[in-house]
Amino acid sequence: MNCMRTWLILTVLMSGGAAALADGVIVIRLSYKVILDPVDGSLPQGFTDSDIDQAIDEMNDFLETFGRGYRFVRVDPIQRVGNVGGFDRPNPSHYFGINMLEDHAQRANMQADALQFPQPYQWNQNAVNIYINEGNTGGTCARPSEQLIVIGGSSSGAGWLHLHEIGHFFDLCHTQGCSCGCCEADQTGECHTGPGSDGIADTLPDLACWGRDEIAQNSFSNDYLDLPSTQREQVDDVFLNIMSYHRSGCGQGAAVARLTEKQLDRWTDTANGPRVATRDGRTYFVQAGAGGSQNGSSTSPFDLVAEGRNAANGGGDIVMIRGGVYPENLIFNSPMTLRTPRGSVARIGQ
Ligand SMILES: [Zn+2]
Repeated sequence: MNCMRTWLILTVLMSGGAAALADGVIVIRLSYKVILDPVDGSLPQGFTDSDIDQAIDEMNDFLETFGRGYRFVRVDPIQRVGNVGGFDRPNPSHYFGINMLEDHAQRANMQADALQFPQPYQWNQNAVNIYINEGNTGGTCARPSEQLIVIGGSSSGAGWLHLHEIGHFFDLCHTQGCSCGCCEADQTGECHTGPGSDGIADTLPDLACWGRDEIAQNSFSNDYLDLPSTQREQVDDVFLNIMSYHRSGCGQGAAVARLTEKQLDRWTDTANGPRVATRDGRTYFVQAGAGGSQNGSSTSPFDLVAEGRNAANGGGDIVMIRGGVYPENLIFNSPMTLRTPRGSVARIGQ
């Protein structure tokens, strides 16, 4: 009997084959570009090259706490795109001073230009393409319909913000609802009167203007400090969520650091689906007693560890075994990584 108590179970390395990624890490490739000022060719204010790797380090620290085996790797040099005099489309410098948060038409234009003219945009079709400009006050990215991320120079070292935008890239909405943003001073409009849906089962209802007590009162009819620890954790999962607006700027200054298990499931399915080109290796889910059609996604998991094992390719793949009992006698003859979600216990064997 093999009892596994932590979310990182073991890395199975057998048959002497060299694993492509020895410690069972799924790499997500990032390609960063910085847009030059069309007036004088200068860089966006606040940007330095070292900001980018600092942000990637910060993001990888977060990914480590999420326990899914993902890591970001910057695959290209930080390219300069655009040039002096490039005021007009499709020159990338056209987008130097534009705040993409407020100008959706320009966002669509930039994506169209980048896809049509990949060379001047240094487009990497096998990576997440992230552009630094001066006009953005934060970052922009949308869910899988959009292909690029734009981050303002003043945020170029803010790893949590890069991760927020990459969260959108992997199909995550804001916790307070997909189309809701900042807590506005006048607190009017539907994003301020009732929680919207993020389509994620384990995030409590949320409004951007809410603090911990408001989230707690709405879900549990009690103040945060009067809740048992399991419910406090649920409140913190939202209040400290990377995809929330409780951080600085337009929020309450919360030190956002979390994604929930269901958010990570959505991320994983998206990484295996529409964003497949950006990563190496994939995750297969296994859940004891799962029925229906089983393809190893988070919503249609396999019911046997053996099926996850059979689907996984030697080297880079992860079998994510949800909590439960799996009375299987298993032989592993190729390298793969077995994990359980955070806080779950899976028991394999007779
Ligand atoms: Zn956002």
